[in-house]
Amino acid sequence: MPELPEVETVRRGLLPAMEGRAILAAAVNRPDLRWPLPERMADRLTGARVRALRRRSKYILAELSTGETLLIHLGMSGRMLVSGVMPGAFHHDHPAPEKHDHVVLDMEGAARVTFNDARRFGAMDLYPTGQTHWLLQDLGPEPFGNDFHQDYLAARLKGRAAPIKALLLDQRVVAGLGNIYVCEVLFRAGIDPRRTAGSLSPVQAAALVPLIRDVLAEAIEAGGSSLRDYRQTGGELGYFQHAFRVYGREGDPCVTPGCTGTVTRLVQSGRSTFWCPSCQH
Ligand SMILES: [Zn+2]
Repeated sequence: MPELPEVETVRRGLLPAMEGRAILAAAVNRPDLRWPLPERMADRLTGARVRALRRRSKYILAELSTGETLLIHLGMSGRMLVSGVMPGAFHHDHPAPEKHDHVVLDMEGAARVTFNDARRFGAMDLYPTGQTHWLLQDLGPEPFGNDFHQDYLAARLKGRAAPIKALLLDQRVVAGLGNIYVCEVLFRAGIDPRRTAGSLSPVQAAALVPLIRDVLAEAIEAGGSSLRDYRQTGGELGYFQHAFRVYGREGDPCVTPGCTGTVTRLVQSGRSTFWCPSCQH
């Protein structure tokens, strides 16, 4: 499931194809994804110019010249493919149409952007620019934004009886953090994922802010490397190899210098937590 770094990588991969360019033709091949697609979606997209391509949490927002914003959410299995020729950026032949190519945008400049989603947990919507889409309404601050800082996080954790892992996954506390990166953050912080959020010391709570940014920034950097190697990506954006220190490593020796522990998996709220019981307290 794509998390913030994967979505940011998709956004950066789409930039040369979309930002500043007009949508010459739009094909909308079914009425719904996770939710119904907007009425007359193809008409409303055709001729629109993408003024800016932004990201909020795990959503890509294409601000259009028509006064509307196109919201894109990859969901569980959504894939974004870019094909055509963009000098200096990419050169991929248009792939043969596939069954689950739900939305296809032919952009000014000969690039094609295809949204393919076999399981249809993804979403697209159009809404007036300047308003807040309902999916974005309750989101907390962006991890790289100025509103996310040590005092803010300490205040959100204070007195809370929920496990620290659950609090960091709560999109109202911080937007865009998912299961993989929360495991990595708590590992680097040396914090037991089962501890109640309110039991963290002020120093521990403060240390989480730069660790969250480090973990996400490193993953975004890995995603950027995948974009530069266009042969490897084959035009599909956002899925890249990234070495995790603890996620998915059950049974492996802990990589913390001096620690002789073993990475262990436990289930919290139905999600796997990977951690080292020897050095996370
Ligand atoms: Zn360890």
